[in-house]
Amino acid sequence: MTFREVICKKIAILGMARSGLAVAKLLKRHGAKIFLSDIKGEEELSESISELKKLGVEFETGGHTERVIEGRELIVLSPGVPLDLPILLEAKKRGLATLSEVEIASWFSEAHLVGITGSNGKTTTVSLLGKILKDAKKEVSVCGNIGLPFSEVATTVSNSGHIVLELSSFQLERIDGLRLEVAVILNISRDHLDRHSDMLSYKRAKLRILENQRPKDVAILNADDPELSMGGEIVSPREEIKVKQGVRTLFFSTKREVGEGAFVRGEEIVLKTLQGEEPVIPISEIGIRGPHNLANSCAACCVASALGIDSEVLKKSLRSFKGVEHRLEKVLEVEGVKIVNDSKATNVDAVWYALQSVEPPVILIMGGKDKGGDFLRLKDLAKKNVKNLILVGEAKEKIKQALGDSVSTKVAADMEEAVKVSRGLASEGDTVLLSPGCASFDMFNDYEQRGKVFKDLCREIFLSHRGSLGTRREKVR
Ligand code: ADP
Repeated sequence: MTFREVICKKIAILGMARSGLAVAKLLKRHGAKIFLSDIKGEEELSESISELKKLGVEFETGGHTERVIEGRELIVLSPGVPLDLPILLEAKKRGLATLSEVEIASWFSEAHLVGITGSNGKTTTVSLLGKILKDAKKEVSVCGNIGLPFSEVATTVSNSGHIVLELSSFQLERIDGLRLEVAVILNISRDHLDRHSDMLSYKRAKLRILENQRPKDVAILNADDPELSMGGEIVSPREEIKVKQGVRTLFFSTKREVGEGAFVRGEEIVLKTLQGEEPVIPISEIGIRGPHNLANSCAACCVASALGIDSEVLKKSLRSFKGVEHRLEKVLEVEGVKIVNDSKATNVDAVWYALQSVEPPVILIMGGKDKGGDFLRLKDLAKKNVKNLILVGEAKEKIKQALGDSVSTKVAADMEEAVKVSRGLASEGDTVLLSPGCASFDMFNDYEQRGKVFKDLCREIFLSHRGSLGTRREKVR
């Protein structure tokens, strides 16, 4: 089906939050007959409901009934809708197509599409790319998994403009013809194994970003990720990566030189293309810190090169981009104690990178809702860099079992107690780091609320007890 064919088609949309609403409006505008369904009750969905009433479309709340499939020709999924819902299994039995909201949005967009996927670093990299394109005076919109639905902007960017799309594996799992002129896979780690039954299916979903590329499109892969590359070849140890014929492949690496792409040589990022080599920026001048952000910056350099962005503009943007809230965000420095909010670190890999990026000794607050993480992987690094580990949330016992022998560990009832304990333990030179390695849903609405609560508590608890940690003045950022 394409956008020309949606007129009068009977389409059900699962999920009535922002993406569901946006795709509903888009489809309705183009003549489709739509019906929405959500598992949540009317109270929780009151805002969406008033919008849908204005739009004059039918919907149901409190669960998905037969109405989702009966007489429908297509089901559209909002991001986050589980694929193993009984209603979707029934739809599959009846041969009914189910597609992601991003797939539908792409039917209506004329813009150049740049897509970024990966287990970690998506939001940071798409935000950086948005800045680079804006600084280069290009028309650009950054959307997708980052919070602004693709469907909301699909028809607003012209055919000479760019849409930078953050794509989760869940969104990619139900695409059909979505074609990315530039497709980036940042990394593949063991995240979301709670939803994807195994690593291979998770990886396959991510690799779908390359599926519809055409000759002259560009694929950008991480040469340092064992899941994506072996010695810079386009080969994976477990499964061949299907870069389409004629697609130009660029690699990025912080560890070795690559054939074509961006890499670190000495103390700077170098871009290498068929035209030759060009130093881009010294590492010390990049606005975002840590080895992971160096990788994200290299990936962004590859995209900029693929889009023909002037290297002076690229350099300026890399210097001035300071990162995104809740990702290794500097909150406060009080009496020589640095406080860092990394609430978005919802998996073990992100914690590992956080521990490489902040200054030890670290007082680390971890815990939340476990996503099947292998916390033992942090053992050596925690031994080396972590002075105290403070645990909260559902996963506290599991993390304690994995790391309790290696680091002095305390358990706290909630975030407030965790911050109080960390304050009691902190002395000049320490970094207090919230990097949970878990989802937030056991204690908070989302990672953003968790990060905000943490920051407010730190400001309250650390600033109101000034004087007892040392004599240096605080800096609030
Ligand atoms: P995503 O959108 O993929 O979740 P974010 O940019 O929001 O990625 O970062 C999520 C977490 O992962 C943060 O804690 C951040 O510090 C960490 N992170 C960012 N980039 C990388 C990377 N390339 N590899 C590993 N961890 C990363």
